[in-house]
Amino acid sequence: MYRTHTCGELRISDVDKSVTLSGWVQRVRNLGGMTFIDLRDRYGITQLVVDSEADDELSREVRNLGREYVVQVVGQVAERSSKNHKIPTGEVEVIVGGLKILNSADLPPFTIEDETDGGEELRMKYRYLDLRRNPARQALELRHKMALEVRKYMSDEGFIEVETPVLMKSTPEGARDFVVPSRMNPGQFYALPQSPQVFKQLLMVAGYDRYFQIVKCFRDEDLRADRQPEFTQIDCEMSFVDQEDVLNTFEGMTKHLFKTLRDVEIKDDFPRMPFADAMKYYGTDKPDIRFEMKFVDITETVSGSGFKVFDEAEYIGGICAKGCAQYSRKDLDKLTDFIKRPQVGAKGLVYVKYNDDGSFKTSVDKFFSQEDFKAWAEKFGAKPGDLILILAGEKKRTLSALCELRLEMGNRLGLRDKNTFAPLWVVDFPLLEWDDETERFYAMHHPFTSPKDEDVELLDTNPAEVRANAYDLVINGVEIGGGSIRIHNDVLQQKMFKVLGFTEQEAENQFGFLMNAFKYGAPPHGGVAFGFDRWVSLFAGVDSIREVIAFPKNNAGRDVMNDAPSSISNAQLEELMLELKGEAAKRTASNE
Ligand code: ASP
Repeated sequence: MYRTHTCGELRISDVDKSVTLSGWVQRVRNLGGMTFIDLRDRYGITQLVVDSEADDELSREVRNLGREYVVQVVGQVAERSSKNHKIPTGEVEVIVGGLKILNSADLPPFTIEDETDGGEELRMKYRYLDLRRNPARQALELRHKMALEVRKYMSDEGFIEVETPVLMKSTPEGARDFVVPSRMNPGQFYALPQSPQVFKQLLMVAGYDRYFQIVKCFRDEDLRADRQPEFTQIDCEMSFVDQEDVLNTFEGMTKHLFKTLRDVEIKDDFPRMPFADAMKYYGTDKPDIRFEMKFVDITETVSGSGFKVFDEAEYIGGICAKGCAQYSRKDLDKLTDFIKRPQVGAKGLVYVKYNDDGSFKTSVDKFFSQEDFKAWAEKFGAKPGDLILILAGEKKRTLSALCELRLEMGNRLGLRDKNTFAPLWVVDFPLLEWDDETERFYAMHHPFTSPKDEDVELLDTNPAEVRANAYDLVINGVEIGGGSIRIHNDVLQQKMFKVLGFTEQEAENQFGFLMNAFKYGAPPHGGVAFGFDRWVSLFAGVDSIREVIAFPKNNAGRDVMNDAPSSISNAQLEELMLELKGEAAKRTASNE
């Protein structure tokens, strides 16, 4: 038997017991004749102690133990004289009677402790060592627990988990597909699912009215901290439901997850915010509503004053930062630098300080009077002591820059606490999005999303105005999930394809099987999918989803541990009847 207990198990009630432990050597400390070893496994750390006076040979042996050696010890549990109340095993130690080295270890390239000296690239290269650290372990445990709770909740609500293919036909989630060549069908390719969207709709046609799946999805897009080429979704679909039914079901699941994983009880219904309001007041479709600071549009009020920046602007709006009137020149310069960063993209910042004495100090004194500022202050609901920050320019860009500025001010004012959660549903998304470059409409969600009944006629006359039965769950400014009520009528679906610029033949080639299925009695249905990795990272309080994925890829889509993707042999290429061209051919040749 390698062990009687884990390294996280022994307590004061175990004193005097003879035990056997196995684990990794985290640290060896010599204090006079005493040697202390921290022995670690997945469950915790237990202090081992060897007294050189009691056993000189053993003492010499343990002093030579290297970091991360795998050892087995037998010994007796004793009460510690100086207790460590920070760890659950901190009241006891094991007086070692015998020790066996099960394996030696090379010196790890970074310290395997909560606070490590390893940078991200190094930690990911040696991810198996990184995963020995508490924060990594806790993240994976949280992930496991969350998957369990999702399954429990969904199953109790009558949903069944059905697996769908990974090798499939291209799906229309709007990203690029990863493709897999088929040896048995030369020249043909599978696509990896961007989501199981079409399969879950087919399951509805098949009568499985409550489906879910915790499932890997694949999208070949540019990566960011909250994106991975392969990621996990909680994918769901229901039949005989309208939007309200779907929102209520998943609001229930969300509350259950908050309660079981974070011990946060959310009693109130989640606010429902129309997309148009989200854009108007927060400049984004994923507003962080942990704090107010809503945008105030003053375009009408201030244009025509002779101030060129305002007069030429399509949109002029701002926010009121409570209690910030004392901001110094330097503070304001910093904010100006912030909004001028290319990622934010604004040209300049106008400020209005509402002084405690009721006067205004502003960057546009030349163009406006104190009376004007008083009127602005009223619009912003500003009080003496507050600071109004204003941006102006082309509407879309300015709203988005103002959104960044609002979040920055939220950070500065400590209004974005990681342990405060503010969920909401954003609803009434537009069905379509116009793309200037390709001069065509794209589905804002995906082509199966149904328009609102009352807007169907607009599909012929003014497609840009059509609203969809689509919704997103947003928590703390992060899009956690989204879905829609689907089109279940083949005529409307065909019309939608037409608006999206598909010829009849293209629609038939890509989605003929779905259209066909819809002819055999498709029930009204709708669903949603949640980003599982993102949700775990929100609950874990970490900034990158990589921290909650066992073996993630870096920003270039590489697995730095096993160096994927990599070239394949010429024999493999031949078997697939594939030939590499240009850069790709050069690369392979240089690797050979
Ligand atoms: N398939 C969609 C997505 O991955 C979600 C849904 O509409 O259910 O975003």
